[in-house]
Amino acid sequence: MSAPTTPRSLGRRALLGGASAVGLAVGTGALHEAVAASSRQGRLPATADAVVVGGGISGLVAARKLAAKGLDVVLLEARGRVGGRVLNHHLSGPGTRGATIESGGAFVGPTQDHVLKLAKELGVRTFQEYNEGNSVYVSSLTGRQEYSGTVPPDPTILPDAAVLLSRIDSMAAEIPVDAPWTHESAADWDQQTLGEWIRANAINADGIENLIKSWTQPGFGADPDELSLLYVLWYVACSGNETNVGTFSRNSDTADGAQESRIVGGSQLIPLGLAKKLGDIVTLHAPVRRIVQQHGRVEVHSDRGTVRAKRVIVAAPPPLVLDIDWFPHLPTKRLQLLRHLDMGQLMKCDAVYKKPFWRDAGLNGFGLNDSGAARAVFDNSPKTGEPGVLLAFVGGATWREYGVLPKDQRRQAILEGFAALFGEEALHPIDYVEHDWTKERWTTGAPVANYAPGTMVQFGPSIRKPFGRVHWAGTETSTYWTGYMDGAVRAGERAAIEVAEQLR
Ligand SMILES: Cc1cc2nc3c(=O)[nH]c(=O)nc-3n(C[C@H](O)[C@H](O)[C@H](O)COP(=O)(O)OP(=O)(O)OC[C@H]3O[C@@H](n4cnc5c(N)ncnc54)[C@H](O)[C@@H]3O)c2cc1C
Repeated sequence: MSAPTTPRSLGRRALLGGASAVGLAVGTGALHEAVAASSRQGRLPATADAVVVGGGISGLVAARKLAAKGLDVVLLEARGRVGGRVLNHHLSGPGTRGATIESGGAFVGPTQDHVLKLAKELGVRTFQEYNEGNSVYVSSLTGRQEYSGTVPPDPTILPDAAVLLSRIDSMAAEIPVDAPWTHESAADWDQQTLGEWIRANAINADGIENLIKSWTQPGFGADPDELSLLYVLWYVACSGNETNVGTFSRNSDTADGAQESRIVGGSQLIPLGLAKKLGDIVTLHAPVRRIVQQHGRVEVHSDRGTVRAKRVIVAAPPPLVLDIDWFPHLPTKRLQLLRHLDMGQLMKCDAVYKKPFWRDAGLNGFGLNDSGAARAVFDNSPKTGEPGVLLAFVGGATWREYGVLPKDQRRQAILEGFAALFGEEALHPIDYVEHDWTKERWTTGAPVANYAPGTMVQFGPSIRKPFGRVHWAGTETSTYWTGYMDGAVRAGERAAIEVAEQLR
C-alpha cells in the first residue's frame, strides 16, 4: 500500500460521515462548484494503489469504499462533472420557481436497498412520486380511458396481459441473477427476442406488444424485437433483492415499484455528495484513453496525465470501454460481449406548467398511449407540486421517429401527446426542456446497455470476470437492479471488495 497522503486517502469518518459533512442543505449548483473546487487541480500523482475510471455513481461508490480502507485512490472522470447518467436540470424560466428536475436517472423504490442506504448516509431525502387518483390510457382502437392498477382495462389486451405477465414472472423467478446463462432453457430463451415470444404466445399479439413497448421504451430505450428474451427475464429477476424475488410489477409500477419515490432536490445530489466527500480523489476532464498492463502494474493514460496503479476498476458504460486503447487487447469473449451490448436510445421530454392541473381532475399524471410521441408519461413535479411537470420518455422506435425531428416539431408532438392524456391545458406549458442521451459523448445512449439475442449465453459469463489487474463496475455488472442507480451502487461496492481483497 502506498503511503497515505491527505486528502487522497481520506479518513473513514470523512468518507462515511453523515449529511453534515456533505452539506446537502445547499442546492446542486453550489455543490457542483464545491466539487469542481475540491477536485484534483494540476498534475496527477505518478502512482496509486487503485485507479477508478468513471465518476458515475458506481465509480464514486467504488472509490469511496477503497479510500475508506486506507487505500490510495485516484478517480478519473471524462466529463467536467460527476454523475454520468444521473443529471439534475434547473428550471429557470418565469414561473418555474427555479425547481430542479432530473434529465437522467430519477426514481427509486422498494428493494433498492443499497442506493436508499447511500442516500440516507449522505443526508439526501426521498419523497413519494405523486400517485393519487387515476392513470390514463389512450388506445387507437378503444379511445381514452381512466384506470387504476398496473394494466389498462383494454379488453383487447387484458386476457394476454394476465397470462403473459404472470408467465414472465414465473420464468424470471427460476433465473439465477448471478448466472442467467446457466438456466436449463437459457439457450432457447436467448435465441429469441421478447417480441418473437410475445407473438408466439399471445391471442392478440399487436395489443399486448404495444403495451409492453410502453414498458421497454422507457425501461430499456429499445423495443421488444431488439431484446433477448433471456435478458428481459433476467432484468425482471434482478428487480428485487436477496430476500424478495424480482417481479414485473416491482419493475414497472409506481406503488410498491421502481417508480415509487424520487429524490428531494434531484438524484444528482447523490453523486455530488459522494464526490464532495472524495475531494481531490476525483479528477474531472480526465478521459482515459489507454490502459496498459505490464511488469505487474497497470498504467492508466488520461488527458490529465498517467497514473501507475496496482489495480484498476473500470466503471464506464460498456460501449465506452471499447473506446479505450487496451494493451494487451481485451480478451476475445469480453471484446465480443462489449461489441454486442448496445446502449438504448432514450430522451426525456418535460413540459412545465404553473400547477399540476391534472391533479385537480383526479389524475395522478401517469399515462400510456399506444401511439404518438408521448407513450409513457409521468408526473415529474418537484415535491412541493410547484411547478407542475409532465415527463415523457421517448425511447426505442419512438425515439427513432421523434428524436430525429427538429426540436419545435418534437415539442409540438409531445404536447399533443400530453393533451390527448390530460386535456387541452397541456398544450400551453410555461417551459419545455428535453435531454437526448444518444448525443452524450460519454454515455452514447440510455438508460442501459442491452443484450441482443444470443449475446448473454455466449458472452455473458465474462461480465464480471477481471482482466488481469482490471476489475469491472458499472450498473450493467450488477446482479440486482442492473440498469438502475441501485445496481450502480451494488456494482461499485462489489468491485471495490474484489480490489481490496487483492491489495490486502
Ligand atoms: C434518461 C434516463 C432515465 C433513467 N431512469 C432511471 C430511474 O428512474 N431510476 C434508476 O435507478 N435509474 C435510472 N436510470 C439509469 C441510471 O441512471 C444508471 O443505471 C446509473 O446512473 C448508472 O451509473 P454508472 O455509474 O454505472 O454509469 P454512468 O452513470 O454511465 O457513469 C459512467 C461514468 O464514466 C465516465 N466515462 C466514460 N468513459 C470514460 C473514460 N474513457 N474515461 C473516464 N471516464 C469515462 C462517464 O462520463 C460517466 O460519468 C436512467 C438513466 C437515464 C439516462
